[in-house]
Amino acid sequence: MSDTRIPLGALPPEGLELHLDDQALWTGPLAEFGMDCRITAPLTADLRIQPLEDGYLVRGAISGDVTVPCNRCAEPMPVHIEERFEDFEDTPSDEGELDGESRIVEEKGALYLDVAAIVWEQFVLALPPNPLCRPDCKGLCPECGANLNESMCACSRDEGDPRMAVLRGLKIGKQ
Ligand SMILES: [Zn+2]
Ligand SMILES: [Zn+2]
Repeated sequence: MSDTRIPLGALPPEGLELHLDDQALWTGPLAEFGMDCRITAPLTADLRIQPLEDGYLVRGAISGDVTVPCNRCAEPMPVHIEERFEDFEDTPSDEGELDGESRIVEEKGALYLDVAAIVWEQFVLALPPNPLCRPDCKGLCPECGANLNESMCACSRDEGDPRMAVLRGLKIGKQ
């Protein structure tokens, strides 16, 4: 991961292109944040860092395949990542003030662009905010935890409807 901090002082005026395929870029933070997201086809990022008058323009794309848990039933669902992004980092002011949002870090008086932080952030943005294995996923029974897509359970949430109770009784009786 040593090559994910780009020394800005050495950046050529025409810019720099990077291809990142070290899975630790993503598996590291996934483990750190305890995210239940598995990589099923390698994630790669292609970046172009362009120095401009007052900052750095980072253009890139991330692609790969992961699984994330369905928001309702928690079953892993496949997500194809194909994300283009553009990120602008302001050159820090003379006082050396680097705010928490900046992806430019200072070390021993030299400035570096933390591209690992950029691709991680863009990866998280590419994940679906409300993943559902299917639009009508029935989720888990709040009482017994059964996956209601696979089977009805015997819990009492439909008690108010006598027709459901009868059906449930029949089903249970047969098993
Ligand atoms: Zn689901
Ligand atoms: Zn249940």
